[in-house]
Amino acid sequence: MKKARPTIRRSDSKSGARHTPQRTCAACRKSLDQGFLVRYVLSPQGNIVVDYRKKLPGRGVYTCLDFACLEMAVKKGQLARALRLGGTFSADALWRELCGQIRSRAFSLLGMARKAGQIVSGTQQVLCELQAGRDIALLVLAEDLSLAMAAKVQNAANRNAVPCFVFSAKDQIGHLLGKSERGVVAFRSGPLAGAIREELERLKKFAGEFNG
Ligand SMILES: [Zn+2]
Repeated sequence: MKKARPTIRRSDSKSGARHTPQRTCAACRKSLDQGFLVRYVLSPQGNIVVDYRKKLPGRGVYTCLDFACLEMAVKKGQLARALRLGGTFSADALWRELCGQIRSRAFSLLGMARKAGQIVSGTQQVLCELQAGRDIALLVLAEDLSLAMAAKVQNAANRNAVPCFVFSAKDQIGHLLGKSERGVVAFRSGPLAGAIREELERLKKFAGEFNG
């Protein structure tokens, strides 16, 4: 019988150095940590699909998290060549798919934060927390929160220098949290808040670029 010993990898805490794989953008040829790039793979049906979490098997090709690089890589055929793909496909559709995957990731982080007891939800509860100066790393405001309420929460958040992000709808957030509609969610400081902030910042940046 083979004796399996678990391999324990220690990160080099002295230097803080962690090996992050570097990949090259097919369009601009910049080499970056793969966290800053999008991966594309072929589905079993032979279609190109976005692999935002970089978990799908098979040959992959990367671009920057930037529509201009994706568009160029599609136009110049770099994605098609790297994946040995014959048919045509659109950069817009891939970009929409990417944004959808980022939204899904934000939703799952919200669910994880709920399970970890890292959130407070509900407009009044969040306002109380802000007024009491409790630890809040960021706020999520539903897209359909009333303007007056959004302004009230935003003002309170500004006083405490807490960033606010507009994301999703009250019923979807409430459903995810196992509650009725929720227009406001606050995250305690920690890795989950950091991770969701990264996703929401991406969505905000992309929305600004596309809708003016
Ligand atoms: Zn690029």
